[in-house]
Amino acid sequence: MKNGIANYIKSLFLWELIKGLRLTGRYLFDKKITVQYPDEETPQSHRFRGRHALRRYPNGEERCIACKLCEAVCPALAITIEAAPREDGTRRTTRYEIDLTKCIFCGFCEESCPVDSIVETRIFEYHGEQRGDLLMTKEKLLAEGDKVEQQLAADRAYDACYR
Ligand code: SF4
Ligand code: SF4
Repeated sequence: MKNGIANYIKSLFLWELIKGLRLTGRYLFDKKITVQYPDEETPQSHRFRGRHALRRYPNGEERCIACKLCEAVCPALAITIEAAPREDGTRRTTRYEIDLTKCIFCGFCEESCPVDSIVETRIFEYHGEQRGDLLMTKEKLLAEGDKVEQQLAADRAYDACYR
């Protein structure tokens, strides 16, 4: 009964509305947190999961050993791998493709890779005008890795400090 009267008085004096306006008024004079992208950018985590890349060792040899763990773990079935032994007896991929139209950027491929070969970079600004533009072939992935290797190595070194 007591609560009912209190609620009635509150609704009579538009108490909820006043509370809401008070909150709006407070934000009116607060520091604005809207980021004016693309002129401004928010900081990126060193674990950011952007477009993929394949890494190489410092001697130029590709890291991937064609174990297909990433292909098996991918929940979106976005990775296709074909492999064959090379002349020196090592096993390497002859085809490595990621279909970005299927990928959900979960990062499982990166986590499953035993040699830190397939990784997700900080690159997130890209587009495709045709479906094929979003098909990352082995050549594209290796080229991407070569381009951002310094950043990738630095991010992994930073991560290792906190393990
Ligand atoms: S990020 Fe996830 S969905 Fe995308 S290719 Fe890797 S495992 Fe598949
Ligand atoms: S990228 Fe890594 S997990 Fe995928 S096939 Fe190559 S070595 Fe295996």
